[in-house]
Amino acid sequence: MKAWRFYGFNDMRLDDVAEPRCGPGQVIAEVLCVQPSVTEAQLARGIPTLAYEQIKARLETEAPVQLFGHEFCARIRETGEGVSRFHPGDRVAARAKLPCGACPLCLSGRSHLCRRGPIIGFQLPGCFSELALLPEIALVKVDEKISDNEAACLQSLSDSVAAVETAEIRMGDSVAIFGQGSMGLECMQVARTCGSGKIITVDVREEACQMSKELGADFAINATGCDPVAAIRDLTEGNGVDVVFECAGGSPKQGLSESKTLLQAFEAVRSGGKIIGVSWFGQPLQINIDWLRERSLRYLFPDISTVAHLEHTVRLVASGRVRLKPVITHVLSGIESVPRAFEITGHKAKYKAINPAQVSICPRTTQVP
Ligand SMILES: [Zn+2]
Repeated sequence: MKAWRFYGFNDMRLDDVAEPRCGPGQVIAEVLCVQPSVTEAQLARGIPTLAYEQIKARLETEAPVQLFGHEFCARIRETGEGVSRFHPGDRVAARAKLPCGACPLCLSGRSHLCRRGPIIGFQLPGCFSELALLPEIALVKVDEKISDNEAACLQSLSDSVAAVETAEIRMGDSVAIFGQGSMGLECMQVARTCGSGKIITVDVREEACQMSKELGADFAINATGCDPVAAIRDLTEGNGVDVVFECAGGSPKQGLSESKTLLQAFEAVRSGGKIIGVSWFGQPLQINIDWLRERSLRYLFPDISTVAHLEHTVRLVASGRVRLKPVITHVLSGIESVPRAFEITGHKAKYKAINPAQVSICPRTTQVP
């Protein structure tokens, strides 16, 4: 089969490799649609972010290696011994981070807290290939109402569902979201389903602000022309919002804000309010902790998404409560287009992309319209 393998940073090649063999608890699936995550698009170029050291070590010791591709929709071709929840022909998506099944947390029924298990695309091969070998415990069935393209966004959306759950939004809480890339737009839409009051979003790209309004933000602030903190205070009688999601921090090489939007988030939240840290920064930051302490701010990080989050994600999309179709701006065709998808996802502002660019690898013959 054809699979993309990494020989180093900035060096991916389409190789012929042996087809995977299905072991117990595993399935083999044909990849229908896959997209690089924003994190993967950075790592492919050697930009420090989440898991940079692990990827660097794998490239130095194991290259060529199949990496990345945890945001996908695939159709099961074969199931291994003991697989009971899925059958050939089922369409599936996956959560990325898996429990190890052997540590004290896993053995005491708290596997959602485990940090020792593998991540699809990082320690396990992902889906930038014609066929994928996937563990049953990672998978969820995709509802017929959801297209292959939407299904490739379900993993990322389930992380946003976990982030919104972490915020414990109360009925009527005002919410601000810095960054209206795919995760920012997802957090905004999911927050709406949880009884949020006023929802204010911030971005520096006009197309992202427009999309945010279209998908339900009450106010979308373009921070290019104004101070977003002052604008948020004006919209909340000088208080600041109850909850902020910070989804814009990270490397400027990826068009992200470094730590600027995090500092703005601390200023835009009311005293005693919550900041949910969705961004990865790729380096240590200097933060004035006394300032957070004095204002009793809660700086929280999302839980890992579980199968329950992923199943809820499927319901949110199938029922139309969260809309993914409008954010899918770039769909490429054929496995040879994968490097182009990395290029677009790595430079979303330049290409006016909202979601990562997707690649249809072996599309269904009968697509849901
Ligand atoms: Zn474990």
